[in-house]
Amino acid sequence: MGSGQVTDWQGTHVTVAGLGVSGLPAAKALHGRGAKVTVVNDGDDARAREQAAELEALGITVRLGDGATLPEGTELVVTAPGWKPDKPLFTAAREAGVEIWGDVELAWRLRGPDAAPWLAVTGTNGKTTTVQMLASILKAAGLRTAAVGNIGVSLLDAVLGEETYDVLAVELSSYQLHWAPSLRAHSAAVLNLAPDHLDWHGSMEAYAADKGRIYEGNRVACVYNLADKATEELVREADVEEGCRAIGFTLGTPGPSQLGVVDGILVDRTFVENRQKNAQELAEVSDVNPPAPHNIANALAAAALARAFGVPATAVRDGLRNFTPDAHRIAHVADVDSVAYIDDSKATNTHAAEASLAAYESIVWIAGGLAKGATFDELVAKSAKRLRGAVLIGRDRALIREALARHAPEVPVVDLDRTDTGAMLAAVQEAQGLARPGDTVLLAPACASMDMFANYNKRGDAFAAAVRELGDGA
Ligand code: ADP
Repeated sequence: MGSGQVTDWQGTHVTVAGLGVSGLPAAKALHGRGAKVTVVNDGDDARAREQAAELEALGITVRLGDGATLPEGTELVVTAPGWKPDKPLFTAAREAGVEIWGDVELAWRLRGPDAAPWLAVTGTNGKTTTVQMLASILKAAGLRTAAVGNIGVSLLDAVLGEETYDVLAVELSSYQLHWAPSLRAHSAAVLNLAPDHLDWHGSMEAYAADKGRIYEGNRVACVYNLADKATEELVREADVEEGCRAIGFTLGTPGPSQLGVVDGILVDRTFVENRQKNAQELAEVSDVNPPAPHNIANALAAAALARAFGVPATAVRDGLRNFTPDAHRIAHVADVDSVAYIDDSKATNTHAAEASLAAYESIVWIAGGLAKGATFDELVAKSAKRLRGAVLIGRDRALIREALARHAPEVPVVDLDRTDTGAMLAAVQEAQGLARPGDTVLLAPACASMDMFANYNKRGDAFAAAVRELGDGA
């Protein structure tokens, strides 16, 4: 199919792998352009049948209960991003010399000739926050933009919808990048890299390589994290347009071609005249919400991408001030008896929990849930000195208890042998018992929630409800 925008789809046999969030709009868009679309789906449940009926009514062929066999005559496969690369369907496609695109690649190929450029963000943690900060900054500069991608609004909808944009703030997951070989962003950032989704990618190297694709063909800037050498390495390996710059961000004093922090001020030493000598003030650390170290890093990455797009410093400041994070990301729930209660239920892996534990001095930590194969030694060893105490919940809590015994034996631990939803109230009460005035009670579970709750939102809601009960009783 080449590597450019495809305009003539008439009669092209396209197999769409997977119904659902990306499959449905992909099938409709391709059908609408005259392609002969067959949708294949592993599942055959009521929801799938409902979606199949909707597509069949348009004249699209749908094959439920068999996502493994490649339909005869397929010239292109468009897959849902989560489908694992080792599926038999893909092996068959590769053997037949058929290209495989994900939803992002399809959006990239279907975009119009005057389409808005993409400022793209990936990383193990912080993607959603950074992309939302970026969109807020771009809006403050008067640009028509939206936060899209792995974040609610699909790229296909953004690219094909009625709305016109000057620029898009795009969140990309490692899966989406895997399936987006010809994507070329205006500028892109990799925030950090920690082991995640290794089961899908096969190895840390493969995971990093997929994340690194975001830099391929960048035109203006490749933004990386000075505190995370792996991100810098990916920039070095990328094949970019001539003149594209590598820009590092740091929580320390920035050198030339970097953004960083000096005396509580976010400064830019990249997009300034004479960067050997000059620095441009962008915003104060207190303009970042919340001003936790990892979130200041997110703000710097967003600022770097916005500045690469030519946004003035005042818009960076205003955009950061206007930004409020999504729920359950270091959300301040309440102060009770001079103890702050913070909900970071979204900290579902150890890398995220480490960042949120680094944001407070004296913490009663509520943790536990499903560990997803993680180990906790590094996290506990790094955070031990900040812990006033720990309250453990959930199925895999013993793993955290053992790590605490090894690396923080003095820290008092309450091990709640409960996985029922009501256990959160007990956990919060135990945490209150351990906390002293000035402390922070922090829900940063470092684990997934599904052993006790429907999802991390529900877990955070249960925490907030429990804190309110404490407040009412106080
Ligand atoms: P993602 O979209 O990558 O999952 P979010 O912005 O939703 O990221 O943040 C998820 C969680 O990751 C947050 O609740 C916080 O605990 C943690 N986090 C956010 N930014 C960073 C960062 N830069 N480094 C490490 N952890 C982070």
